[in-house]
Amino acid sequence: MSTIRVGIYTRKEIRAVFHGEYKHGEEVVCGEKIICEAGWYVPLSEDCSFSLMDVTIGIDFHWERNETQTFKGSLEVMKAKKGELTAVNVLDIEDYLQSVISSEMSATSHMELLKAHAVISRSWALCKIQRSLKGSAFACHESEGKRICWYGSEPHEGFDVCADDHCQRYQGLRAKDHKNAIKAVNETKGEVLCQLGVRSEELGVKEYVICDARFYKCCGGVTEQFETCWEDTHFDYLVKVEDFTKERRNDLTTEEGAREWILSSPEAFCNTNDKQILSQVLNDYDQETIDFYRWKVVYSQDELTALVVRHAPQLGKIIDLIPLKRGVSGRIYELKIVGENDSIIIGKELEIRKWLSNSHLYSSAFVIEKDSNTFTLHGAGWGHGVGLCQIGAAVMATKGYTYKEILAHYYPNTEIKLGIRN
Ligand SMILES: [Zn+2]
Ligand SMILES: [Zn+2]
Repeated sequence: MSTIRVGIYTRKEIRAVFHGEYKHGEEVVCGEKIICEAGWYVPLSEDCSFSLMDVTIGIDFHWERNETQTFKGSLEVMKAKKGELTAVNVLDIEDYLQSVISSEMSATSHMELLKAHAVISRSWALCKIQRSLKGSAFACHESEGKRICWYGSEPHEGFDVCADDHCQRYQGLRAKDHKNAIKAVNETKGEVLCQLGVRSEELGVKEYVICDARFYKCCGGVTEQFETCWEDTHFDYLVKVEDFTKERRNDLTTEEGAREWILSSPEAFCNTNDKQILSQVLNDYDQETIDFYRWKVVYSQDELTALVVRHAPQLGKIIDLIPLKRGVSGRIYELKIVGENDSIIIGKELEIRKWLSNSHLYSSAFVIEKDSNTFTLHGAGWGHGVGLCQIGAAVMATKGYTYKEILAHYYPNTEIKLGIRN
């Protein structure tokens, strides 16, 4: 059995209710307890659970609120900084996944889509436990007139994953956990995505190498490769995939290729407006935006200047945006921003999306149309585009593809393996 350590929250004191008997050192505890020091609380039987009060969910989102959450497994209270305590839930990874898939995926999702996500989430969680996620955390290379940054995932200290969207949303045992999510986790029990034919030899045991199975909302017709978004390392399974059945040969790394591609709306798995399918992937608050396969953002020169000035006040009024390098899906990873006083080259894809929007631009796969006072960005897709396209996967499931076919489509050169040790 693999266990995972989930950090729930950090507080001055932890208010808990134990439903059933828990071993705490030499004592057995039950019922309400205000915990003011570090320690372990281990359930004495399978049907025990414990609740934590005032857990904040949706931090920094408009639906942020506090609620009581209930958990299986053990509670570890750890010392944190500034005399505070962190509540960590230690539980079986399969129980963790049931909750995650229920929280992250809609109850109306197709079973094959849920199963694909269960395998991805399990692979991701095991990578987190092994601290073997590919790519480093935030890195930034700045030189004269150039700023190339990417944003990886910092490991947590003292636990494997947090319970919020930074890692995977985990809300413990919930009355509304849906049967299908639980079924999808059970039916893929222990299955992880591994690199084809690649094994590591840690501890003298040959092991398959688990994939860093990334995903996002919509590729825009073609998926991107890892190195366009993060550091310059190549992974055989995070490469260009054309998100359709008919093969085409557009070279989207060129300006002409990207322009023709983005200004058209080619057939692709993720080229859909089917609300029933979109609702499987997008949370309610996201469903208002359905124009993400192809999208458009219009800025006046002043608006664009105001956005860029936050990062580079020295540029002055912005007079041009020039894509210098595009990845295989047309996503720009080096963009030259020309101002009246100076210019700068920025990358990679997320940095570009942050600079050109108050939050994030949908993607960095865009072409620019300029007239006297306006900049129109015509774009494709939503997210970094590396790995599985969630909208495309939902459409594939509806068309009758199995989760194994869906995973093989978005992650070439992989195989699904059972029972990877951690
Ligand atoms: Zn996290
Ligand atoms: Zn797609």
